[in-house]
Amino acid sequence: QRRSKSSLPDAREQTLVAVKPDGVQRRLVGQIIQRFEQRGFKLVGLKMLQVSEELLSEHYCQLRTKPFYPGLLRYMTSGPVVVMVWEGHNVVQMSRTMVGHTNPTEAQSGTIRGDFSIHISRNVVHASDSLEGAQREIQLWFQAKDLLDWDCCDRASTSEI
Ligand code: GDP
Ligand code: MG
Repeated sequence: QRRSKSSLPDAREQTLVAVKPDGVQRRLVGQIIQRFEQRGFKLVGLKMLQVSEELLSEHYCQLRTKPFYPGLLRYMTSGPVVVMVWEGHNVVQMSRTMVGHTNPTEAQSGTIRGDFSIHISRNVVHASDSLEGAQREIQLWFQAKDLLDWDCCDRASTSEI
């Protein structure tokens, strides 16, 4: 009789990560995906799109009054983005740590922004900043049907092989 193993708490926590247009143009998509995969998170949604100003104004609704907002819209519409949903224990907080400080000047080496960027206006990547923010952003960017639930090949029972 095998003992059943329970999952880590919050194993189904999800967050939204996006490679911004500069990240796509600089061919950083693969390296950014690799960091989340090798950390152990699970990719449950992925798409590439040219973002509309309408979607961005929802995504960045808290920044609409900032002086840099018009430039932020131009930046984020300057080419396609690759947007992803990653799942796993504590993924919201850990992805923020992996992404690093908003301002690359302050971002530590070893973080995505600390390794790949030098200026706040071109900081390569987005990650949701809270559980509530993640839920809001995932609903904004993805339809529920496009988030996939899947099991790892090493969990297949012998009857399936
Ligand atoms: P994030 O959650 O770390 O991405 O930071 P925020 O939510 O505060 O800001 C969203 C994005 O707006 C940042 O990632 C930057 O691309 C941009 N941004 C924030 N602050 C500034 C700023 O002072 N100047 C410029 N040019 N862009 C900024
Ligand atoms: Mg933010």
